[in-house]
Amino acid sequence: MTNSNSGKVRGLGLSSGGLDSILAALMLKKQGIEVEWITFETPFFSADKSRGASEMTGIPLTVRSITETYLPMLRNPRCGYGKHMNPCLDCHTLMFRLAGEMMQAKGFDFLFSGEVLGQRPMSQTRPSLRYVEKNSMFDGYIVRPLSARRLDPTLPEKQGLIDREQLLDITGRSRKRQIKLAMDFGVKSYPAPAGGCLLTDGGYSTRLKDLFAHQETCIERELELLKYGRHFRLNEITKIIVGRTKQDNENIMTCHDPEKDTIIKVEKFPGPTVLMPHGGDRSILTLAGAICAGYSKAPGLTQVKVKIDTPRGRSGINVIGLPPSDIRHLMI
Ligand code: SF4
Repeated sequence: MTNSNSGKVRGLGLSSGGLDSILAALMLKKQGIEVEWITFETPFFSADKSRGASEMTGIPLTVRSITETYLPMLRNPRCGYGKHMNPCLDCHTLMFRLAGEMMQAKGFDFLFSGEVLGQRPMSQTRPSLRYVEKNSMFDGYIVRPLSARRLDPTLPEKQGLIDREQLLDITGRSRKRQIKLAMDFGVKSYPAPAGGCLLTDGGYSTRLKDLFAHQETCIERELELLKYGRHFRLNEITKIIVGRTKQDNENIMTCHDPEKDTIIKVEKFPGPTVLMPHGGDRSILTLAGAICAGYSKAPGLTQVKVKIDTPRGRSGINVIGLPPSDIRHLMI
């Protein structure tokens, strides 16, 4: 007995856009099961790979932006973090919970993913997979077609909605069987496995930790800004972002809120864009101006004018550039 009006068995997959997600979906499709994907977006990871996989396979994809729901979990993950700020177990749990809500709302029979037992040291061990199942609120409904025969039968397998015999028993880090399977399915191009989550990046994680330590709440723009430039903490409430390149300067400006932030630039010499989120007082602006001048092409030990754009208007101050080596201790 299926949940759908069409009488067809329907599975909703969590897509990463990688080969394993694609193969899991194609294996189920081969059994005559109707498959769709869901994927999630935050400033830390994008849905682009999944969009590509959906275009390539024709499997319908739902993309949900989940930053607001994600942040409370990210600040306090029950199972803690991996090497950096990646809360992989609780991240998977949350994603399966949200996917499960869609499963119920849209009449799917089960959830699935391309996870492979033993492929990743932290998130794909047997206890990790069990933790995610139990805490997602959809225990028994999560099928991992690539490793299913090494795992306990799920409800849809027990109910005969999925033929367990046609599922696989892949484990470990080798990709050989997946590559062979891709050839069998005629899948010729697919994105590289893993990668793409900024929470596994050391530099990004350091800046995120600093943001969490200094702000009780934060918004998407502030999380986007952590991707660009050099970050300096000037005091407990003020930090600045200094562009490294022309592209960096442009990216920083895409995150600029003219009603809140201050922008600092050296007049007459090429140099970085400096963004001070939420602005700052005169002394902190002078320090930021000197840092800005220190990273510019203005000659050292000479007074230069920097222009300061705040929500209240433009002004200018004269500063002497601070050499980058003198402010290294302020870098986040
Ligand atoms: S790598 Fe990032 S997106 Fe993937 S499970 Fe871990 S935290 Fe979530």
